Amino acid sequence: MSHPIIIAGPCSAETREQVWSAARQLAAFRLPPAAGSGGISFFRSGIWKPRTRPGNFEGIGETGLPWLSDVQKELGLPVCTEVASARHVELVLKAGLQAVWLGTRTTANPFLVEEIAKALKGAPLHVFVKNPINPDLGLWIGAVQRVLRYGPQKVYAIHRGFSDYHIGQLRNAPLWRIPIDFKVQLPDIPLLCDPSHLSGDTSFIPDLAQRALDLNFDGLMIEVHPSPAGALSDAVQQFTPAGFEKMMHSLSWRRSAPSEDLHSEEKIIIDAIRSRIDVLDEDLVDLLAQRMSLVDQIGRVKKRGGIGIIQIERWNEVSSRTRKQAADKDLDDSFIQEVYRAIHQQSIKRQEKIIRE
Ligand code: PEP
Ligand code: MN
Repeated sequence: MSHPIIIAGPCSAETREQVWSAARQLAAFRLPPAAGSGGISFFRSGIWKPRTRPGNFEGIGETGLPWLSDVQKELGLPVCTEVASARHVELVLKAGLQAVWLGTRTTANPFLVEEIAKALKGAPLHVFVKNPINPDLGLWIGAVQRVLRYGPQKVYAIHRGFSDYHIGQLRNAPLWRIPIDFKVQLPDIPLLCDPSHLSGDTSFIPDLAQRALDLNFDGLMIEVHPSPAGALSDAVQQFTPAGFEKMMHSLSWRRSAPSEDLHSEEKIIIDAIRSRIDVLDEDLVDLLAQRMSLVDQIGRVKKRGGIGIIQIERWNEVSSRTRKQAADKDLDDSFIQEVYRAIHQQSIKRQEKIIRE
């Protein structure tokens, strides 16, 4: 990875001293040589905090804006804060901050995104768009497009996980397929990961951050507080500056663009394996087409004989046979079940169509 984009800072701005303590320590931070030895790209701090339940600390508000603009001026470190309305944008522009982010609850609301995008029109800011709180790729892409439409901001996306009722240890569900699909659809938008809000707990952050780097994310947003235990929001997920440094230096930083910066020997091997994968993919699609054509033939016979589409015994037999074969080949059981569920659903759909014709 050549120039990872690193955003770090406290969840919330609480006092002028707390903001300055975090900012000074983070301004001195250096990435390891494998990540280019640079500093953080943006200092973050929320002044308007979207809290799930009323009565919690909802941010210091406008009072905190001069603290942030002073940090930006005096440390030469671009500062980023959350905006959730056109009014917030107006105040941030007046304070001269260089970057904003749209929080996960805002991205889920096209009315608000449109209002914010309009308010940002013409301002040369860096705009980070977090994924919507619900797992909806279209909504995320739509929010990015709304901001891009007004320009001329530099727009980025941040994966911070998706809300669910029962997730387990993490605060939010990562659903890595969604950010990967985002990258496939909008390859030119830099994609960062926010393992702080994803996990809700510093102990899970190193693994999640590593996973993001291994998947070629372009950077990370990490919450760092001078004394996390006393933080007014998200205490458990914030690192101390020293903890942040230790974590960042423990990660293995990878190159992000294999075609450009991999050693030629590695590139030749990858290219060779990829061409074999391409041939296999052709065969897979071909086999699926053959399977569906047989399914259609059965569909026509069922129609003629007045036989129902779903025969549970037959499906159980297919399912247990393929699962056994997959286990012998060391393939993951839930993976093969997912593949066969998709195949089965498609088969049913085709037969339904034939019967209705
Ligand atoms: C934040 O970054 O402070 C925040 C509130 O994040 P999210 O919108 O991802 O919950
Ligand atoms: Mn937070």
